[in-house]
Amino acid sequence: MTNRDVDAVIVGAGFSGLYATHRLRNVQGLTVQCFEAAEGPGGVWYWNKYPGARCDFESIYYSYTFDEALQREWRWTERFAAQPEILAYLNHVADRFDLRRSFRFNTRVTSAVWNEETNRWTVRSDDGSVTTARFFINAAGAFSVFKKNDFPGQDDFHGTVLHTSQWPAEGVDLAGKRVAVIGTGSTGIQVIQTIAPQVGELTVFQRTPNFACPLGNRPLTDEDFAQAVADFSRNRQESRNSIAGAPYPRAVRSALMDTPEERRKVYDEFYNGGGFRMITSSYYDLIFNPVANATAADFIREQIRERVHDPKLAELLCPNDHPYGVKRATFEINYFEAFNLPHVHLVDARTTPIVRITEKGIATTDHEYEFDVIVLATGFDVGAGALARMGVIGRGGRKLTDHWAHGQRAYLGMATHGFPNLFHINGPQSAAALFNNPLAIEDSVDFVGNLIGYLDSHGHTTAEVTDLAEDRYNELVREVADATLFPTATTWYMGDNIPGKPRTPLSLFTGAPMYRAICAEVETTGYAGFSFDGENRPLSSLIKLDGSAVFFLAGLQNMGAKPLEDCTLEEARAAMESFKLMQLPVADDVSIVDARYPIDGGHRKVRLYRPPIEGPLPVVVFYHGGGWIGGSLDLYDEPCATLARRVGAVVVSPDYRLAPEHPFPAATDDTVAAVRWAADHITEFGGDPERIAVAGESAGANLAAVVALRLRDEGGPQLRAQVLITPPVDFLADTESRRQFAHGPIISMELAMRMASLYLGDPANAVSPHASPARAEDLSGLPPALVVTMEIDPTRDEAENYAQALATAGVPTVCRRIDRLCHTAFELSGAIPRAAEIHTAIAEFLTPLLSAQRAATEPALG
Ligand code: FAD
Ligand code: NAP
Repeated sequence: MTNRDVDAVIVGAGFSGLYATHRLRNVQGLTVQCFEAAEGPGGVWYWNKYPGARCDFESIYYSYTFDEALQREWRWTERFAAQPEILAYLNHVADRFDLRRSFRFNTRVTSAVWNEETNRWTVRSDDGSVTTARFFINAAGAFSVFKKNDFPGQDDFHGTVLHTSQWPAEGVDLAGKRVAVIGTGSTGIQVIQTIAPQVGELTVFQRTPNFACPLGNRPLTDEDFAQAVADFSRNRQESRNSIAGAPYPRAVRSALMDTPEERRKVYDEFYNGGGFRMITSSYYDLIFNPVANATAADFIREQIRERVHDPKLAELLCPNDHPYGVKRATFEINYFEAFNLPHVHLVDARTTPIVRITEKGIATTDHEYEFDVIVLATGFDVGAGALARMGVIGRGGRKLTDHWAHGQRAYLGMATHGFPNLFHINGPQSAAALFNNPLAIEDSVDFVGNLIGYLDSHGHTTAEVTDLAEDRYNELVREVADATLFPTATTWYMGDNIPGKPRTPLSLFTGAPMYRAICAEVETTGYAGFSFDGENRPLSSLIKLDGSAVFFLAGLQNMGAKPLEDCTLEEARAAMESFKLMQLPVADDVSIVDARYPIDGGHRKVRLYRPPIEGPLPVVVFYHGGGWIGGSLDLYDEPCATLARRVGAVVVSPDYRLAPEHPFPAATDDTVAAVRWAADHITEFGGDPERIAVAGESAGANLAAVVALRLRDEGGPQLRAQVLITPPVDFLADTESRRQFAHGPIISMELAMRMASLYLGDPANAVSPHASPARAEDLSGLPPALVVTMEIDPTRDEAENYAQALATAGVPTVCRRIDRLCHTAFELSGAIPRAAEIHTAIAEFLTPLLSAQRAATEPALG
C-alpha cells in the first residue's frame, strides 16, 4: 500500500467526516486522506440498519446547511426520515461534492502517533498503509463503538444474537419468531414498536423505563417541503440560536408560574407536538429544578397509564428513578400501545436482572426464557470510544487512554492537551449531546477549519490546547452539570452506561447558543486557551466564568432574551426585574415593612428589613442597582433580607428617582435624604442611629460612595462604614477590565455607556465627584470601606483603583475580588450559589465596625 504525506488525515465518513473533507479539501484546498471502516459513507446511518431506525430531529433540520442548493434539492419524504433515506442522503452528499475519492473505505485506522521531530502525525491503518499528516481529524463518531455484550453465554445460544448497530443490510426475517429485545433506550424503543406487529412472541427486557414522548412522524407533504425551503435561511439561523439546534418554540416560563390546568395545556401541546418540543418548548426550568421537573414527569406518566391497558404493566413502564429529560430524551410511535398486544411481554430486568444467555435463551434471576433471536439494544461506548481504540500517542509518548484515565475531556470538545494538531469533531465535552448533530458538526468542522486557516496564515506549525485551558474547561463542564439535574441520573451523558468508565459529564449542558458563544469568543480572541508553537494564549472570559453564571447566561440565550443593549428602556427595566426569578426565597423570619421618606418636593418609598434579633440593631442603608435607570425595591428583597440576617442589622432600602426621567443629581439627592431620614427615624424600627453604614450594588454602590462623600462634606450624619459592591466610580475611566470585558458578560461597555449617558444628562457631569466619586480631590475622612469586585466585570479595575485611592487617603479599606464571578451576581443568589461569598465578605467587614461595643469606645470612626 502506498504511503502518503498529506495536510490532514480524517477518520470517519459520517456527517462529520464528509463535511470535514469538503471543508478542508474543497474549500480550504488542503490535501486530505480519509479513512472509513465501513464499505461506504454514512457513519451511524450506515451501521444502524435495525428495523425502525430513524432520526428524532425533523429531517429538514437534521441535515446539512452548508450548501443552499443541497438543502433545496434533497426532498425528504417523511417528517423524521428513516435510516435508508438518511443513508441515501449522505451517499448523495458524498457524490455531489466528489468526496469518495479522498476516502479509503473498508479501512480501519489502527494507530496515530505524533512525531515531535517532524511535527506530523503518523497514521497506520489495517490495510498496511502509513500516512503522515500535519493534522489528525477525529470524525470517528460518538456512537460508533457498540457496547460489548454484558452477558456471558452468548456462544451457547442456539439462536441468533444481534446488536442493533450490526444489523445485516439484507435484514432479518423475524416473522413468527420468538424474539427478545434487551434495552429500552432510543434504539430499543424504535426496534420494539416496529417489530411488535411482525414477530411471533416479543419479550422486552427493561432495566430502566424511559420518558418516551410521541415522535409525531408523518409523510412530509409538498406543502411542508415548500414551506421548509422558503424558510430555510430563517430556520437555520433560528436553529443555531435555539437550545437544541432546531427552531422550536422557546420555553420562557417556569413550570411553577402556571396553575396545574395551565400546565396541562402546555404539556398537551408540546407532548403531542412531536420530537424534542416537550423538553425544549414547555418550561425552561425542567432541567434544573426538581419540583418543576416533577410536573412534566407526572404528566408523561399519566399518558403512559392512559395508553397501556394493564395497570400493573403501565406502572412498570413508568420511569420513577430519574427526572424527565436527564437521560437522553426518547421518542416513540405507538410504543406503549405495543404492550397491549397479547404476544408482547415485559420483563423487569431491574428486579430480576439478566444473569446469562443460555442455549435456549435468556436466564434471569428467576426464570429462563426461550428465544429464536436476541436483539441487543444496549447502547454504545459514547464519547470518544472510537478514538480511544485507535492507539493514539501524543507528545512525549503519552497515550491518549492514559490522558483520559480519569474521564474523557477535550477543550470545547475539540482539542486535547499533549496532542498537538489533533482535532475532534464534537469530541467529549462538546455540546453535541443536546444539539441537533448536523449543525453541531458543521460548527465544529468550521471552527477547526478556521483554526487551521489561522495557524497557516500566521506561520505557525502547531496548535495545542494549554493544560490550563483544558483543566478550566473541564471544570466548567462539571460546574454547569452540577447546576442541572443531569448528574442525578444513571446515563451515558455522564459515562455511566459502560462499566468501569470514569463518571464525567460528556457534554456541556448549556444548550447550543452558549456553546457557540464560547467558541466564538475563543475564536475572536485569537484562539484563547490554545498554544501556537508553544506560545500560550490566555483564557477567554466565558471560560473563566463560574459554571453557574454560565448556565444562567445560557438560560437567557435559550429563552431568546434580548441583550440589554438592544432593549428599549421599558424592556430593559422589565428584564432587570425578571432576575428576581433567579433568587433564593426571601428568609421568612425577616420582618419587612414599608415606610416613606421625604425628598425635595415629595416622598419616596423605603423598605426596612429586620432580622429576628433583639435590638437596638445597627443600620445598613442599601441602594439597589439597575444602572440608575432601573432596579427596584422588589428586585432587592432577597439580597436585603439576606444582608439583614447575615449582618444582624436593620437594612433600609430606599427607592430613589431614576433616569432618564430624573437625571443626575436626583438619585444622589434622594439617597442622601434617605440616610438623614434613617438617622432621624430608625429608632422607631429598632435601629440604632449611632451605627449607620451605607451599602449598594453597581449603580447603587456608586450612589453609596457619593453619599459617603456628601455626608462627610455636608454635615453628616456620620457613617460607620461604606460597602461598595461592583461600583462604577469613574464615568471616564479607561481601564484594562473595561477593555477586556467590553462585551460582558451581563454588562457590556455599550450598555454601561448608554446608562451613563441617560443618568448624567449633560455629559459634563461625568467629571463631578458626585457622579464619579473617584474624581474627588480629597478622599480622606471617609468612613471605612469595603470594595467588592468581580473578576470578570468591566467595572473591576476602576473599583479596585478607588479602593487603592481610599487606602492611600488613609481610609481603612478592604478590597475583596471574587474570582470567576461577574456583575450582578449579588442579585442572582438562586442561580449563582457563590453569591453567598459576597454576603460573607460584607458580614466579616461590617460586624466589628457596627458592634455596640465599638460604638461605645470609638464613636468617631473613619
Ligand atoms: P458517525 O456517524 O458515527 O461516523 C463515524 C464513522 O467513523 C463511522 O462510520 C465509523 O465506522 C468510523 N470509524 C470509527 N473508528 C474508525 C477507525 N478506527 N477507522 C476508520 N473508521 C472509523 N443525533 C441527532 O442529532 N439526531 C438524531 O436523530 C440522531 N439519531 C441517531 C440515531 C442512532 C441510531 C444513533 C446511533 C445516533 C443518532 N444520533 C442522532 C447521533 C449521531 O451520532 C449523529 O447525529 C451523527 O450521525 C454523527 O455523525 P459522525 O460523523 O460524527 O459520526
Ligand atoms: P442507550 O440509550 O444507552 O440505551 C441502552 C439500553 O440498554 C438502556 O435501556 C439500558 O438500560 C439497557 N441496558 C444496557 N446494558 C444493560 C444490561 N446489562 N442489562 C439490562 N439492560 C441494559 O443506547 P441506545 O438506545 O442505543 O441509544 C444511544 C443513543 O443513540 C441515544 O441516546 C441517542 O442519542 C442515539 N439514538 C437516537 C435515535 C433516534 O431516535 N434518532 C435512535 C437510536 C439511538 P439502563 O438505562 O438501565 O442502563
